[in-house]
Amino acid sequence: MNTHTIILFYKYTNIAEPEKLSTWNKKIGAELGLTGRVIVAQEGINATLEGTNENIAKYIEELRKIEGFADVQIKDSVGTGNAFPRLRVRVRPEIVSLHLGEDDLDPNEITGVHLKPEELKEWYKKNEDFVVVDMRNDYEFAVGRFKNSINPDLENFRDLPKQLDKLSNIKNKKILTVCTGGVRCEKASGYLKKKGFENVYQLDGGMHKYMEKFPGEDFLGTLYTFDNRVVMDFGGDKNGKREVIGRCQNCNDACETFSHCGRNSCHKHLVVCRDCLEKHGRIFCTAKCKVKYFIDRIRGKKSVAVKIEN
Ligand SMILES: [Zn+2]
Ligand SMILES: [Zn+2]
Repeated sequence: MNTHTIILFYKYTNIAEPEKLSTWNKKIGAELGLTGRVIVAQEGINATLEGTNENIAKYIEELRKIEGFADVQIKDSVGTGNAFPRLRVRVRPEIVSLHLGEDDLDPNEITGVHLKPEELKEWYKKNEDFVVVDMRNDYEFAVGRFKNSINPDLENFRDLPKQLDKLSNIKNKKILTVCTGGVRCEKASGYLKKKGFENVYQLDGGMHKYMEKFPGEDFLGTLYTFDNRVVMDFGGDKNGKREVIGRCQNCNDACETFSHCGRNSCHKHLVVCRDCLEKHGRIFCTAKCKVKYFIDRIRGKKSVAVKIEN
């Protein structure tokens, strides 16, 4: 039945030779026929991989043999066999782009307190006074999120420094940062602490781990993934009990399908329903983009078609 597994993991640890770890991943990835994305930097590794159940198990076994990786926390979910087109392994300056510049930090030195999924469950049960700050991109937030969470309006994760003012009113509150698998929160929670937020927690293992433990609870909608599944259901599909919270940019109907702004040079990720895209050919993020698109057309600039992502 379930022949494939998708794993998600990251680790902030000092990697003296990122090239070496990158080559190791390329080699073992090819041997085991894995697909997905691996980013290696001096500060650590961030990866999403798919393979057969057996080969993913072999990869994990070998990974844990590498010094510093014995305790790496791995999130897994059922694969599709075609979640990724190929394997891409890259060496980059950071494992997630936060562009903190001078404020860049090492999560091994400063980061929010790790809160286990079970502890968050308790917080919800006891009705604790806390605020969930969602550190994902706005289009991810649009289709799924924790109950009562705040979206700092991140068009992109690296907008966080610019959006910090929006969080100033919760500076003295108990804050829990959340993201898909936890990697973004390691730095984002550290960054908030650095900026004077005192009571900062981060969800250990991210939404993914929470939903593995408590499927369909405390989370509305669905979880956006960065692979061909696009969104991932936990505890009931959208035809069942689960609520669909995404809304089409154009008609406002409930939907969980994604496309991009019809102006190719903008390309902003949008929640758009199939009907609207079929009917109009392209949907725009703003009226401004729509006007610019038509001006471009008058000037003879060619545009490529936009598609639904899932
Ligand atoms: Zn629509
Ligand atoms: Zn646009």
